[in-house]
Amino acid sequence: MALYTEDQKRILKTLYPNDFEDYDIILRTLDKVIEKEVLPRAEEVDGEKIFPKEGMDTLFEEGLVSMSFPPEYGGLGLPYPVYIACMELVSKACASTSISLAIHSTVCEGLRLFASEELKKTWLLEKGLLEGRSLAAFALTEPGCGSDAGAIRTKARLEGDEYVIDGTKTFITNAGVADVYFVFALTDNGPTAFLVEADRPGLSIGKDIPKVGVKGTKTGEVIFEDCRIPSSNLVGTEGKGFKHAKEMLNRGRLTIGVLSVGIAQAALEKALRYSKERKAFGTPISSFQLTQEKFANMVTEINAARLLTYYAASLKEQGVPFASEAAQAKLFASEASVRACDNTIQVLGGYGYADEYDVHRHWRDAKLMTIGEGSSEILRLLIAHMALKAV
Ligand SMILES: Cc1cc2nc3c(=O)[nH]c(=O)nc-3n(C[C@H](O)[C@H](O)[C@H](O)COP(=O)(O)OP(=O)(O)OC[C@H]3O[C@@H](n4cnc5c(N)ncnc54)[C@H](O)[C@@H]3O)c2cc1C
Repeated sequence: MALYTEDQKRILKTLYPNDFEDYDIILRTLDKVIEKEVLPRAEEVDGEKIFPKEGMDTLFEEGLVSMSFPPEYGGLGLPYPVYIACMELVSKACASTSISLAIHSTVCEGLRLFASEELKKTWLLEKGLLEGRSLAAFALTEPGCGSDAGAIRTKARLEGDEYVIDGTKTFITNAGVADVYFVFALTDNGPTAFLVEADRPGLSIGKDIPKVGVKGTKTGEVIFEDCRIPSSNLVGTEGKGFKHAKEMLNRGRLTIGVLSVGIAQAALEKALRYSKERKAFGTPISSFQLTQEKFANMVTEINAARLLTYYAASLKEQGVPFASEAAQAKLFASEASVRACDNTIQVLGGYGYADEYDVHRHWRDAKLMTIGEGSSEILRLLIAHMALKAV
């Protein structure tokens, strides 16, 4: 299955008529790598709950995470929509791999935007976050709150030139496999971001959380008990932690949008192929108009989701506000992806529901996209709030 689609090519060509050939080569090269190294293991990664380290390492080697970072960080400075297009390919093959990489990349971006030069040098370069020599996690959610981030209870108190962190984070992607955690905790000045190395005394990994989908990812609790970090591990400004988190989540939402598109595209193609082979009442099921209605809706919604996502990514690239568009892209793409995967199961009938057909994976993976990094409900509130504010 070729992962790189004509629809992607057309959008990139429209966005970058002069440089399209260069970007097209990058996408075609990555397509081959993913097809060889990531796709063949995706079913096993899901079924056996294997953390997809090998596939991730291959993609790091291909420069996937660093490609949109400026050259001073070893990146290629490529436009953000090109990175987004690459992430669509990864997600189409294996959503567990794409989610683990996406969260890691969100932390890299948070460091680039808000961290001191010293932290950037240490983590982005020396410890090789962008090259995949280290792995990062983003720790905001707590047992008592997810959507309502203002209710976090993890505390960080300043003692001399150290912060002492106490509290529990949960549902943390890459928990236990990350080398560093981007943690949000309350100081006297309000919510604040910190970088906490995984081997700091006082940091421990709590229970692993078994899940419905993205089963290859690690999701778990991260516990801080009297965990001391140097004050230089503060990221950004004390009290501005949520402002930093919001900016990181805007980027994260673009990524979740495109991961949703990749999952939906994989499901669509499986449904199309199956419908031509499977016969009922003496004819392929693809000939039934009720089946075709499903395909028409899927194709239209996936393309709309892709356009919205790549458009929001191009706004980010231009340096103009894109918070509402990122939220719209994530909201629409994640819900469209769930509908597409649901339709695929329906088209495959009983086989769609059977374990042996690898379509339920997409259905289970897609559902997460409507919950993490701002649930559909929270995003609707945000989009409406911004629309009302604009008039
Ligand atoms: C697999 C997975 C990976 C994750 N990875 C990470 C990670 O790496 N780092 C991290 O920090 N977090 C992570 N999360 C947590 C995720 O961000 C939260 O689950 C999400 O923000 C929702 O929070 P919640 O689960 O506490 O739901 P709640 O906030 O309790 O919400 C429950 C329901 O109520 C709705 N709701 C809440 N408030 C309102 C409102 N005002 N109006 C209408 N409806 C409302 C929600 O939309 C939802 O439907 C992950 C979650 C999962 C499942």
